[in-house]
Amino acid sequence: MTRPDVASSPLPPGSTIGILGSGQLGRMSAIAAARLGYRTHVFGPEPDSPGMQVATAHTLAAYEDVEALRRFAGEVDVATFEFENVPLATLEALDGRVPCRPGLKALSICQDRVTEKRFLAEAGVPVAPWREIRTESELQAAIAEIGLPAVLKTTRLGYDGRGQAVLRRPEDAAAAFARLEPKPLILEAFVPFVAEISGIAARGLDGAVETYDAIENRHRHHILDLSFAPARLPAAAAEAVRAHVAQVAAALDLVGVVALEMFLLPDGSLLGNEIAPRPHNSGHWTMDACLCSQFEQHVRAVAGLPLGSPARHRDAVMHNLVGPEGLAAWPDMVARRDVVAHWYGKAEARPGRKLGHANRLLSLDSLASLDKAAAEGF
Ligand code: AMP
Repeated sequence: MTRPDVASSPLPPGSTIGILGSGQLGRMSAIAAARLGYRTHVFGPEPDSPGMQVATAHTLAAYEDVEALRRFAGEVDVATFEFENVPLATLEALDGRVPCRPGLKALSICQDRVTEKRFLAEAGVPVAPWREIRTESELQAAIAEIGLPAVLKTTRLGYDGRGQAVLRRPEDAAAAFARLEPKPLILEAFVPFVAEISGIAARGLDGAVETYDAIENRHRHHILDLSFAPARLPAAAAEAVRAHVAQVAAALDLVGVVALEMFLLPDGSLLGNEIAPRPHNSGHWTMDACLCSQFEQHVRAVAGLPLGSPARHRDAVMHNLVGPEGLAAWPDMVARRDVVAHWYGKAEARPGRKLGHANRLLSLDSLASLDKAAAEGF
């Protein structure tokens, strides 16, 4: 079979998109791909996982299994990934065999908080003061410069608040340094934010960029609980969120979707925190409240199609259904007439696991209904 020329032209319907990772992001990307007429092939180490349940084909193998990766590369027309902690060696095994979108550059920058912070500053996104920490004496020096409180974090493999400690007093430093692994670490000034905000952009193969409305996020036990769209922000700040995430997408040479997590300060200014070069949990509301969801946008970019419209036709609140509580809430969510409910098909409702989400749709541009939903907790 001859492969389509995927370097520049759109993938024809019936082509196969390979997805590394088979969690809910891969699942929702595969569903969006199917709607556009594509097949999907999901690669991951866990049997019967959310992505595998809906993909056309799957490979059950470890990310280190070079033979399986090479076979996978031979069976797909283009590859993407659903989480940024895919080992770089995995993408290197695909390199030259099949185009990977986004590519190694985006992945390597976002896997390390130090390269990520440097990149953000170079891309024109302000960040809180930070220092790389390799030794305890570097930590003491950094505390003297940055001050307390401050947040000490691992530079790799941290997510949902894991791998970090807030230092309030000088005595907190030694124990936190000893506990956090792997080294090196990063010390960041504690940001007295009034809200956590995210921006989401898609960048096509042709370099075109589309951005979604800024999103306001609330966490519970360090896990995203609620996303409000649009964020209740002054217009200038909302525009700055779009501009910053668009700068990030362009500077990463990204083909796909990227999310930028930011802090809103009391004076209305914004600081960048983290980049995720993939569809993001805070963008799940786009599935039901935008003309083209973040997942469809990702598939369009990866397949070389023109990007769709990110226009929001309803305001929305997204609520994550997490662990046993999320399971208990499902019958109510699926019965509600103002909610579109999504379930990921995970086998077990372990505490802290994201099992599904619910998108509550509100009237367009109704600040009062967003405020009411925020007060009601969903
Ligand atoms: P992260 O893993 O960097 O996304 O951090 C997880 C959460 O910890 C964020 O969503 C914030 O609520 C909080 N956090 C992280 N960094 C800081 C900081 N420098 N100052 C204050 N809070 C922070």
